[in-house]
Amino acid sequence: MGVKEKILVVGAGLSGAVIGRALAEAGHAVEIVDKRDHIGGNCHTERDEATGVMVHVYGPHIFHTDDREVWDYVNGFMTFMPYKNRVKATSGGQVYSLPINLHTINQFFGKSFRPDEARAFLEEQADKTITDPQTFEEQALRFVGRDLYEAFFKGYTQKQWGCAPTELPASILKRLPVRFNYEDNYFFHKYQGMPETGYTEMIARILDHPNITVALETGFRRGEKAGYGHLFYSGPLDGYFDYELGRLGYRTLDFERFTYEGDYQGCAVMNYGDVAIPYTRITEHKHFSPWETPAGSVCYREFSRACEPEDIPYYPIRLVEEKAQLADYVVRAEQEQGVTFVGRLGTYRYLDMDVTIREALDTARLYLARRAENAAM
Ligand code: FAD
Repeated sequence: MGVKEKILVVGAGLSGAVIGRALAEAGHAVEIVDKRDHIGGNCHTERDEATGVMVHVYGPHIFHTDDREVWDYVNGFMTFMPYKNRVKATSGGQVYSLPINLHTINQFFGKSFRPDEARAFLEEQADKTITDPQTFEEQALRFVGRDLYEAFFKGYTQKQWGCAPTELPASILKRLPVRFNYEDNYFFHKYQGMPETGYTEMIARILDHPNITVALETGFRRGEKAGYGHLFYSGPLDGYFDYELGRLGYRTLDFERFTYEGDYQGCAVMNYGDVAIPYTRITEHKHFSPWETPAGSVCYREFSRACEPEDIPYYPIRLVEEKAQLADYVVRAEQEQGVTFVGRLGTYRYLDMDVTIREALDTARLYLARRAENAAM
């Protein structure tokens, strides 16, 4: 099949790679640019030379999905090793199992409840004077009562979002965050795993197509799309418009890296609920690859703070003010000819990897279908 149209893709993360691959397979010439010096976006993994540990450079990434097509897609490029995310939490000098489950409840309250007893006990703990919870705090108090709220939600949420849980909407905590059994797998999804040789290797294989070229350390600015049939943009939506309507609010993360000779904490992720401890969690990366035997350990202490212009945007804040600002940017984006805004930054949403891939596949298909329709007219 001859090459059809030149397509520009901004961002060599999962969004850009998956869209680029689909269009390349359909015969288009795809040029992908990324301002970073590596592919993979925020899923980037890198082997630490000294210890051999596969490091999740921008924070821990666990693949989990119910989407069979997405699971087959990633397995088409990479072997996924079995991996279950079992998170622990340190609070008040004790280590507990998360999400809050029967083990956590029994340990925390010094009990040996069976499921029904634990359920009845928590109902007694719940604050029933709150009938119409408006804030995150009220919602948590109504679900789990003050003791569990203060141990596992209050400090963590305050550190993560930089404000008191009384300032966050109740909608953040939609369901009862408690399990009345001993299931400690963080995710319920049918398919869960970890790429055997890392996410970056998987994305490199997605990008490995004769119709795709990738230019790293190449920043894109609006106006540089002349000569291309279409632009798929996975950079920040507000950045595309030079922040003309102001900056969309994000939280950023700082990672304090340290190494350890043995096993530092015995698990991949340890949360810290106490507000006196300034970090939210510690990640020990070697536990993400339990089939490997590295020579040492690499850990990250993770700190969350407000995102400044020079920082990497991680979590969109999406409160009332940001959503209003977003709506104004969306109007601008819809008026932009020949551009599709995609991915976590292009749409200003938190997206898990499986959702990112699902949306990227759908976006590419829609684009190709519309082109085929136009060609037939
Ligand atoms: P990105 O990965 O951000 O890629 C965008 C790319 O665009 C970047 O490489 C950037 O350098 C480039 N770019 C931006 N602007 C420009 C420009 N102007 N010019 C050139 N290039 C540009 N998902 C899960 O499923 N499981 C997890 O456990 C999980 N953990 C996470 C933990 C953290 C801390 C965070 C923040 C996210 C996590 N995610 C997880 C979500 C996952 O990171 C996203 O789904 C994924 O990164 C989205 O891919 P993307 O391509 O849309 O964005």
